[in-house]
Amino acid sequence: MMGKETDAMICRACGNEERASEGYPCDGCGTFICMICSFKGVLLCKKCAETAQESADTGDDLLIDGGESPSATI
Ligand SMILES: [Zn+2]
Ligand SMILES: [Zn+2]
Repeated sequence: MMGKETDAMICRACGNEERASEGYPCDGCGTFICMICSFKGVLLCKKCAETAQESADTGDDLLIDGGESPSATI
């Protein structure tokens, strides 16, 4: 027990200081993401999100809407 010390951490997605115990680790690097961001669907810290976007830009592995998907015949 460490008294009433807060476990505040800076969210690496929005920059807010939130309680670490109420946050989640970044999907990419494991750094702290606050619950609010997590709730909004943010799973990556700013850095990882940028990296992910960059690789999405250069790679052609994006989901193509309207393309034929041969795996939906039930
Ligand atoms: Zn946040
Ligand atoms: Zn990250």
